[in-house]
Amino acid sequence: MDLWFTEKHPSGVGLTCRVTKTLHTERSAYQDIAVLQTQGLGRMLVLDGLVQTTEADEFFYHEMIAHVPLFSHPCPRHVLVIGGGDGGTVREVLKHPSVQRVDLVEIDSRVIELCRQYMPSLSTGLNDPRAVVTVGDGIEYVRTTTRKYDVILVDSTDPIGPAVVLFTPDFYRAAASILNPDGILVAQSDSPISNPESTSRTYAFIGESFPIVNLYLAPVPTYPGAVWSFTMGSKKHLLLPDAVSGRPPLETRYYTPEVHRAAFALPRFVIDLLRGGCSNVRS
Ligand code: SAM
Repeated sequence: MDLWFTEKHPSGVGLTCRVTKTLHTERSAYQDIAVLQTQGLGRMLVLDGLVQTTEADEFFYHEMIAHVPLFSHPCPRHVLVIGGGDGGTVREVLKHPSVQRVDLVEIDSRVIELCRQYMPSLSTGLNDPRAVVTVGDGIEYVRTTTRKYDVILVDSTDPIGPAVVLFTPDFYRAAASILNPDGILVAQSDSPISNPESTSRTYAFIGESFPIVNLYLAPVPTYPGAVWSFTMGSKKHLLLPDAVSGRPPLETRYYTPEVHRAAFALPRFVIDLLRGGCSNVRS
């Protein structure tokens, strides 16, 4: 059978790929989960009909959500990842020799279990003794934990279903309160092309809880709009002009110090969007 999967975006645009095998589908307590074997993108994790990650292009997203903040912090030891049950972000965090412990707080245990089973190249980091996995709601965790962190990474689904709370001022305030005085938070903040309102709202909310806020961009070929944004809230550190000075380079496929610096160079329509102009390619 010639089987194709299409992710349908509200804009009326979609991403289509050929599925050679449906490896798993189920309805968990939180969402519809599918793991597909595709012809061109390797294995693909789909939640509620939306592509979360593929073996072919996961490195763009996971390297950029992890290495930009970790190389912007002078010595990241304790890291918290909210969401990210596929394990890709934890895998990248653990490449930094200074990291002593990374907590992963994922609400859906089935995402963790299925990625361990079907996407081991991503979940490998979850087996590292420095990785501590907690199944729970990220907002409850940041409100109740007594731990303090150097870096918090919000690797959540888009603001629908259980992830809505992770895009609220309350969440960012609580997250800021468990960061050390020189801590950094980075949240995936949607595509300024396919969902500009979400990007500008996330940027504004993070700016309410952090004295320094910066947005950076990276391509993620299988995400709507293909250009993805990450918002960095920092208590102290400005973007370091030489992000990796004095630290050994890591084995990466997308990230380089030059890419790090360039990611903060914003196109005009994104600058206008963050100023409240909401100018974007759809208008
Ligand atoms: N990179 C992806 C993206 O941008 O689309 C995100 C991938 S990751 C699989 C997102 C994870 O966030 C999902 O597994 C989902 O279960 C989890 N999640 C959603 N809401 C959450 C919450 N309130 N607390 C913790 N994890 C949550």
